[in-house]
Amino acid sequence: MAFLKESARSLLLVELLEGLGVTLRYLLKRPVTVNYPHEKGPLSPRFRGEHALRRYPNGEERCIACKLCEAICPALAITIEAEPREDGSRRTTRYDIDMTKCIYCGFCQEACPVDAIVEGPNFEFAALTREELYYDKEKLLANGDRWEEEIAKNLELEAPYR
Ligand code: SF4
Ligand code: SF4
Repeated sequence: MAFLKESARSLLLVELLEGLGVTLRYLLKRPVTVNYPHEKGPLSPRFRGEHALRRYPNGEERCIACKLCEAICPALAITIEAEPREDGSRRTTRYDIDMTKCIYCGFCQEACPVDAIVEGPNFEFAALTREELYYDKEKLLANGDRWEEEIAKNLELEAPYR
């Protein structure tokens, strides 16, 4: 009996008509997909994307080379070298992040006392080679300069919860 029922469904193209019915039902509804990369979905201010090193508005680097981020990184992805400047202030001479090791936990950002290292909103940083994912200080500062407006806004929105 079941065989006859299945055969009849196949001959009468019932599955096909049911599928077309679903298509027609959703044809006039608002799409739930976005046309990426031309359209993008909303991102939380807490989104943990590509890293950036920030500066103060006068252009000075925020990072004071305390190495807390390096110490807390569970993936050992951060390497910092530092020495005092002539004016006695302490600044990094090397700040590298191996993005192939990073697990985007956000601990470095949480540990930083001056909001210097942050995970910005950029998620479009796929690369063709591993070498491109070894970020140095220059690259991180350039990211900071590029995304400062969005990063500052996100930090402000997140401040009440920190
Ligand atoms: S996000 Fe986590 S794993 Fe990545 S560099 Fe920061 S502390 Fe390390
Ligand atoms: S980025 Fe922040 S936590 Fe890391 S060394 Fe600089 S000041 Fe310290």
